[in-house]
Amino acid sequence: MLDTRELGRRPGSQREVSLTVPAPADLGIDVLRVAEGSPVELDLRLEAVMEGVLVTGTARAALEGECARCLEPIHDDVEARFQELYVYTEHQTSHDEDDDVSRLQDDLVDLEPQLRDAVVLELPFQPMCEPDCPGLCPECGARLAEDPDHSHEAPIDPRWAGLADLQQDPDQH
Ligand SMILES: [Zn+2]
Ligand SMILES: [Zn+2]
Repeated sequence: MLDTRELGRRPGSQREVSLTVPAPADLGIDVLRVAEGSPVELDLRLEAVMEGVLVTGTARAALEGECARCLEPIHDDVEARFQELYVYTEHQTSHDEDDDVSRLQDDLVDLEPQLRDAVVLELPFQPMCEPDCPGLCPECGARLAEDPDHSHEAPIDPRWAGLADLQQDPDQH
């Protein structure tokens, strides 16, 4: 929660704030997230406007997760920008029914929903340990990035040999 009272509700008054807050739970996606309680650095500009307070900010935090292909731990960081208008509680707007409007509660701003949205937007859908991770060997599960020339001695199970023949000659039926 961020106090906006210093702005005095005077349109045009501004304040810059830098602070570090502990990350809330579930900040990010399953495979890549900011560990709960780890520091999130916020650089914010608060600007009073007629109907509320405009908050423009940057958040920086460390990420941890797993490669989507080889499950190797990933350590990265994220920088997310966001901007949101927080409307004074009593201010009537033409779209008051609209639940999407962020409201100030007792001149306090709750940044968490915007922080969450902004961070998730920055995250790759499928995080990878390196841009073109080759993943795991389907035979033995070894991590191919560490052992690119990895191979196995023709491990075809005799029970599958007949099937392999069939696949090589699909025109027979
Ligand atoms: Zn990987
Ligand atoms: Zn292997």
